[in-house]
Amino acid sequence: MRRYGHSTSFRLSRGFSCVVPTYPSYLNLFYTGELQKRVEESKKYLSPCTVCPRNCRTNRLENQKGICLAGRDVRVSSYNLHHGEEPPISGTRGSGTIFFAGCSLKCRFCQNYPISQLNHGNDYSTEELADMMIELQGMGAHNINLVTPTHVVPYIIEAVSIAARNGLTVPLAYNSSGYDSMDMLRLLDGIIDIYMPDIKYTSDGYAFRYSTAKDYVAVNRQALLEMHRQVGDLVSDENGVARRGLIVRHLVLPDDIAGTRASMEFVAEHVSGETFISLMSQYFPAHRAHDFKELSRGITQEEYTSAIDCLGIYGLENGWVQE
Ligand code: SF4
Repeated sequence: MRRYGHSTSFRLSRGFSCVVPTYPSYLNLFYTGELQKRVEESKKYLSPCTVCPRNCRTNRLENQKGICLAGRDVRVSSYNLHHGEEPPISGTRGSGTIFFAGCSLKCRFCQNYPISQLNHGNDYSTEELADMMIELQGMGAHNINLVTPTHVVPYIIEAVSIAARNGLTVPLAYNSSGYDSMDMLRLLDGIIDIYMPDIKYTSDGYAFRYSTAKDYVAVNRQALLEMHRQVGDLVSDENGVARRGLIVRHLVLPDDIAGTRASMEFVAEHVSGETFISLMSQYFPAHRAHDFKELSRGITQEEYTSAIDCLGIYGLENGWVQE
């Protein structure tokens, strides 16, 4: 489970706009009927499946499973109030986190591998997924935090449509690997208020070796640009709770496998110098990491300090580092 404990904000105020949305974007689409159109449009991508950049072309509606292990149903590992996310996401009451099982990336070192790679969870209908969202909102969640959502976007859109009808009013956070297709992101335009993608690599060689995705870098960069185009820099309310915008997450890996400096350079020069970065230090060898000598250890203090220095080199002053 991806946690973000012991975070330290390295800048608090810059990038916070005085224009704070008071209601989530998807309600606009719900009231105009556009949300229902997106439901119908998104389902077309399930058969043959081209929901993510893998383009497996399986027939998900007939329960054929592709690389992500998802079939006809949406599988959820757990849902709960999460207090370990970045401060504007967890806020004071917690983030309403839904952990989807399966994943279109095959990261050898996945920190959540029982959920993402072993597909542990239970299958739910979209009506039940909508009920989860409403339940989390009732528990006080500041947002609905969709973790590893890439392969189930059509189900999410349908569930949001149902939940909006049933009174959902908190923003949606899309918490992905950053390996997202442009088709799905266009369908999510106006539905998602907060994007939280990873930058995992800046080398296709590493992306293939460790996650079997040889096109990760180009896909990821295009996705980040599109996400930022849709929601802009992070905006929070008077209590510091996120309402809209982009947070980029970067897990520092041993031997700079994640390409931290090039990642920060891309964000600063092509996305926005005001981007909020969550620089994560908690890597530990999990899943099949021990198959690779270079991944068989945690990162050193020097490696993490060097990663923090990259933020300064490119003038990235918003976000969080870990103690
Ligand atoms: S969502 Fe799953 S089945 Fe569809 S293209 Fe991606 S990996 Fe393949």
